[in-house]
Amino acid sequence: MNSVSQNLERVREQIAHAAAKAGRIVEDVELVAITKTHPAEKAREAIEAGQTLFGESRVQEARAKIPELPSNLRWHFVGHLQKNKIRHALPLFEMIHSVHSLSLAQDINRVANEEGLHPRVLLEVNMAGEGSKFGFFSEKLRYEMEELLALPRLSILGLMTIPPLAEEAEESRKYFVQLRELRDRLQTEFRVDLAQLSMGMTQDFPVAIEEGATLVRVGTAIFGERRSRKVDL
Ligand SMILES: *Cc1c(COP(=O)(O)O)cnc(C)c1O
Repeated sequence: MNSVSQNLERVREQIAHAAAKAGRIVEDVELVAITKTHPAEKAREAIEAGQTLFGESRVQEARAKIPELPSNLRWHFVGHLQKNKIRHALPLFEMIHSVHSLSLAQDINRVANEEGLHPRVLLEVNMAGEGSKFGFFSEKLRYEMEELLALPRLSILGLMTIPPLAEEAEESRKYFVQLRELRDRLQTEFRVDLAQLSMGMTQDFPVAIEEGATLVRVGTAIFGERRSRKVDL
């Protein structure tokens, strides 16, 4: 088995290669190392290899793990955020990738107001319209965008998606293209800057980078297989 540092090096090479292939600047793609289900020791190996940006998908797990690690790290929340966990999540995470509904956005806004915080968030889009998944349907997002943008405490910085499970990375490409195109339309229509596109995981991050990802969320390729479910829908 490869070490975390070897894995990280390989992922970084793949990121550089995909960026070059697409004529993009590699610095425009940030790697979020997803440590969910893995102990703090694993994260430490990545830190020693120079990684400073990490992601978690459960607030409870993050509350235990983050304090065990150096305080200069940056943490992103990528999982399903339950409303009763917002207050704990906000101070831990510099970005929430997974705001999946207007009502969740409103709750985050309210808690942020009470706590005096200005969270940076991405809107999660259910691009394939899967019934089993969280996220805005793309048409609905256009109707709710005005209200989302009016929430004074939220900095909405971009969009995020998790495409349907697929055998081949290429199968995800159309969803990445659709997310980018939706972003472009929203930017024009609402005159906002939605620079961040969080898309791509172990299975398909090179394709996501070719299609404009600025944040790739990679767990397995760095830390190895997890025992539990692959993705927290
Ligand atoms: C677990 C998870 C990832 C990382 O998945 P890998 O396939 O292990 O790279 C990325 N995004 C989200 C939302 C996740 O829950």
